[in-house]
Amino acid sequence: MVYGERVRVAVLSDVHGNLAALERVLDDCADADAVWCLGDIVGYGPRPNEVIDALRRRGAVAVAGNHDRAALGLLDISDFNTDAAQAMVWTSGVLTAKSREYLASLENVRVEREHTLAHGSPRDPLWEYVTTPTQASANLNHFATRLCLIGHTHIASAFIDRGDGVFLATYAPPGFTVDLSQLSAKALLNPGSVGQPRDGNPQASYLLLDLAAGIATWRRVRYPIRETQAQMREAHLPRRLIDRLSLGR
Ligand code: ZN
Repeated sequence: MVYGERVRVAVLSDVHGNLAALERVLDDCADADAVWCLGDIVGYGPRPNEVIDALRRRGAVAVAGNHDRAALGLLDISDFNTDAAQAMVWTSGVLTAKSREYLASLENVRVEREHTLAHGSPRDPLWEYVTTPTQASANLNHFATRLCLIGHTHIASAFIDRGDGVFLATYAPPGFTVDLSQLSAKALLNPGSVGQPRDGNPQASYLLLDLAAGIATWRRVRYPIRETQAQMREAHLPRRLIDRLSLGR
């Protein structure tokens, strides 16, 4: 990886139709040169079309998540829990032709400026949850770049190869940084979720990559949770999905 480029990239994942959260995050990273989105743009949340429009306006580069594929009818949702499946039926019903076209254009994996982008993991981009060092290690030979950016778990985290194929895993609290220029081997970084955090902190989570300084910083942003919850009630989305936004679980 070549550092020294004066480029700052905001890495977002799992926006899940939460426009209020996305807008605050895009404000927070307004001076970033690029936005990369790791999928699950829609599903669960009340504003899927508006979220897609906002990402397109910002010129975001994105890959597909399992919810994005399911919304197009391309994935069997029998593996989804009842709430997720109910929200998916609603989401599929409200997506515009333009939004469908956008979701259909997304790849499962792509490489941007020598960074691999995937939703779940590079070896199984739509389904695998990387939560342990063993899983991170099993993905080592499935990406060629130094860094792989993943989402899907909704938990801000980092998996760093010690240099011998054994990964160290860490939760990434707000303000946590990784000095990329000091990495001796590969790493998988997870920005956490913009629209439905599940690490006990309800604030929207994302990752800022400063390619000039070689620093990755995890950030949290307050957003009007009640606004999203009111939109979800209006759309008759499942109660449990509404409540969990306040808890960050
Ligand atoms: Zn998700």
